[in-house]
Amino acid sequence: MWQTSALYDQIVAFGGQIWHIALTLGIATAVFAPLEYFLAVRRSGFFYRGWRIDLAWYFLSGLTLGFVLGPITATIAWGAHAVLPTAMTEAASALPLWARMIGAMIVGEVGFYWGHRWTHAIPFLWQFHAVHHSAEHVGFLVNTRGHPVDVAFTRACGLVLLYAFGFADAVGPDPTLVPALVVFVGSFWTYFIHANVKVRLGFLEEVISTPFFHHWHHTREDHKDHNYASMVPVMDRIFGTMYRPKDWPTEYGTATPMPDSVIGQLLQPFAPPPVAALTKVDPGAG
Ligand SMILES: [Zn+2]
Ligand SMILES: [Zn+2]
Repeated sequence: MWQTSALYDQIVAFGGQIWHIALTLGIATAVFAPLEYFLAVRRSGFFYRGWRIDLAWYFLSGLTLGFVLGPITATIAWGAHAVLPTAMTEAASALPLWARMIGAMIVGEVGFYWGHRWTHAIPFLWQFHAVHHSAEHVGFLVNTRGHPVDVAFTRACGLVLLYAFGFADAVGPDPTLVPALVVFVGSFWTYFIHANVKVRLGFLEEVISTPFFHHWHHTREDHKDHNYASMVPVMDRIFGTMYRPKDWPTEYGTATPMPDSVIGQLLQPFAPPPVAALTKVDPGAG
């Protein structure tokens, strides 16, 4: 009886999770689909080439990321408390909330920037990150197209610094309204910078990332090793990787061979080279 009830609870929880993910997708689509229709960088239609893979990654990421990130966050938190002197983390905790929020945003961005840059520079990590770059149509749904190992790695790089500086409370598991709002805006913004919308923000582009900034990160060959920041392009200014030409890129994707299914893409980093080389490459996957 207990087992049946536990199973029932799990099914209900899983159903709730699916509903939550689907609802978020509905809201994101309601916001971005009209924008992409009226302000498209390139006309592509609602069902563009590769939309199925983006959609599958959206649900897969939504269902698995919690499982992947939970133990990683717990391990980092445990390691930080074991290694760092308490005085250091307590000093940050004593700061007012707004100062912790800004501190968390800055060190989080530094961690993300370097984590992201390493996924491009280190071939082993690139095999995972190439999934995100395999998209040949860049629109809002590409935001969640990412291998769980890749996403976990870059998030962990940000988290390590957040814990090291004692700012983790500001984005912790029990956030107050303001940090929750910052996390919400941050998530919304990463959809926005992928969106196929031709908007420019003038001088603000130095301060906040935009579709133009991030689309140049997705460009096929030229300058793919630029514009790593998630929200604050200043990171790229400081570390010498900013690239802002005049026009929009014309081609997206990567030369790295990529299977044309989510399962294939999930497994390809683990495949030995001869098998990976034989995998069917679909230029339209993305
Ligand atoms: Zn990248
Ligand atoms: Zn991207």
